[in-house]
Amino acid sequence: MAKGLYGYTGRLLKVDLTSGKIDTFGTEPYIDKFLGGRGMMAKIHWDMVTHKPKRIGAYDPQNPFVIMTGPLTATVAPSSGRTECSAISPMTYPDECYTESSFGLHFGPELKFAGYDGMVVIGKADRPVWIFIDDRTVQIRDGRHLWGLDMFDTQERIWRDLGDEYRKTQILVTGPAGENLVRSASIMHGSSAGAGQGGFGAVWGSKNLKAIAVRGTGSVKVGNPERLMKISKEAHRLIYRPDQRPETWKNLAAFHRVGWSFYQGAGVSGWEWLKKKTSKAEACFGCPLGCHIFVEIPDRKGRYTAGKCNQMSWYLRNVMTRYGEPTDVYWQATQIGDALGMNAFEMIGLLPWLTGCIKEGLLTEKDVGLKMADIGTLEFADQLCNMIAYRKGFGKILAEGAPRAADITGKGHHLLPHFNRGFAHHWSPRAWSPIALFWATDSRHPQTPIHQLYWTFRMNVKGTWPQAGFASEKEVAQWSKELFGTTKAIDYSDENFYDPIHAETTKWAQDGDVGLKRSTILCDYGPFPIYSSYFANKEKSYRPDTPSPELEVLMVNAAVGRELIPNGQEGMKMGERFWNLERAIMAREGRTRKDDTLVKYLFEKEASATVTGPEGKTIKVNRKLDHDKFEKLKDAYYVARGWDVATGIPTRKKLEQLDLKDVADQLDKGGLLPKAAV
Ligand code: SF4
Repeated sequence: MAKGLYGYTGRLLKVDLTSGKIDTFGTEPYIDKFLGGRGMMAKIHWDMVTHKPKRIGAYDPQNPFVIMTGPLTATVAPSSGRTECSAISPMTYPDECYTESSFGLHFGPELKFAGYDGMVVIGKADRPVWIFIDDRTVQIRDGRHLWGLDMFDTQERIWRDLGDEYRKTQILVTGPAGENLVRSASIMHGSSAGAGQGGFGAVWGSKNLKAIAVRGTGSVKVGNPERLMKISKEAHRLIYRPDQRPETWKNLAAFHRVGWSFYQGAGVSGWEWLKKKTSKAEACFGCPLGCHIFVEIPDRKGRYTAGKCNQMSWYLRNVMTRYGEPTDVYWQATQIGDALGMNAFEMIGLLPWLTGCIKEGLLTEKDVGLKMADIGTLEFADQLCNMIAYRKGFGKILAEGAPRAADITGKGHHLLPHFNRGFAHHWSPRAWSPIALFWATDSRHPQTPIHQLYWTFRMNVKGTWPQAGFASEKEVAQWSKELFGTTKAIDYSDENFYDPIHAETTKWAQDGDVGLKRSTILCDYGPFPIYSSYFANKEKSYRPDTPSPELEVLMVNAAVGRELIPNGQEGMKMGERFWNLERAIMAREGRTRKDDTLVKYLFEKEASATVTGPEGKTIKVNRKLDHDKFEKLKDAYYVARGWDVATGIPTRKKLEQLDLKDVADQLDKGGLLPKAAV
């Protein structure tokens, strides 16, 4: 094994905007237990925020905004270019709570090239500022000239001011939405990437922080470069396996670029539109997929920008109702939202609430200052986005987010298409029981654990999505048996929907997601986990004896040059540790079992879905959730997690098992550790 520190730079940056103090602290004490990404962010947050003497909110200067890379960031590991971030969120509802988000492209790798594994920003500047990291030189610079600029112009201005030598500088920005404390405001980066969920753009706004720019001219030392190269090549091959899935992953990327929105939204061929309009694809650092797409539609300033997935879908349905008018409007609406630093996911929930309120006569056009007959036009999108981003007129209320807007107006709660904690619907809890548990127990919209489960057991099935899957229903049933000992683990028929086995699969997906994707860091947007490597792949070269991803572990160990993660099972245990630490943060914020809820309408209204049924077969269901049975499923989840069933808080035994004794001690000191089951 190599001697020394590999896969990490060994340094974390801390910038205090109140005092102007810039400091560093070591990464090494965190590595073995907290790995990187979400694991390390949670630990840093846990240590920095003690809620003494009182609980702090999202806009408290002491709210630490943390950016974190992982041991694979800036290496040749495929799809390792994403970056994690966390803070107390102004978007979570009803309370402002700790949550996380992530973004793609090149910022994280550049931060490592500059010599930092991550950074923490605390405090509040007395005027708008931006942070410039030029290798080891870090400055807090005056940002008054940047305040008010949109996200594209901010980056252009910084590049222009820095000069040609600094053209490769990677920049994170908040737009006017963040400056004006729109609760869901994003942090944006490059052509289109953004940490959307969480409202961290508003956290920056509250700190008077406009941008963080980084240029790094160094490199990251890898412990065993030959081995990492070999495993990465294999990962590339598996991602593109021509024999197993000629279309799946490659097309998944293209499909997500634009196609699915058209399919789902209006039945119009996205592929045709894609072929005509695409100018080029764009990828995060080191990713062979490139799921961002540039389209030949300039915005009003003549700028060409990129987009991907849900970011592009918030206005689609409205545009599609205007037959005969240009479909390009939906792309331009995306550009408007991106430029202002708005979160498209929030718009997906907010627009139906607003239109529903008008339709039912709860609000009038005069109240909201919008002409609803114009919905679907570019002018409407422009007016709506700007009134929210600048808090003009009714936009001041909309800037609070849909659930809070319903509270403020006292109207339309029944129209909110939200599932939990202020996040708009996505992946129905009425379809898959783990989805119900994901939504109930996460701090936010649980996108990536859902991917972890759905990518494995549903999307790989031939015919499930418009692109070809590679597995048969029988094969998928066999995977379920291998992983969980029974095909019932993927059976979502009415008869099996509340089976306790789904608590196990929920835990499996959460631990794998937070540990081996979001902390290593590998992207789940297509490539990881690479299930063909140990399910469909006949070579079995990476197949573990236990239900745990192995390829990811091999890559991390090659990068760090030692057995940081002894095997897949230990990798999953690391994920369990991080999940428990995040739960301890929630407990400290006052969250208990009673907060692990889902919105009422899921228990009152039926919805239909196509799901996996007995023996992996595809079935159709139509159902609503049963409150009592769901509570029993929650019991099973807390048992599977080793948490106290009455409170949903981790027990001392579980925390100590996971090497988190200090966390147990602190919870105990605060009177939060469950007494009945210590
Ligand atoms: S799949 Fe897309 S989001 Fe993920 S690393 Fe690749 S380009 Fe980035």
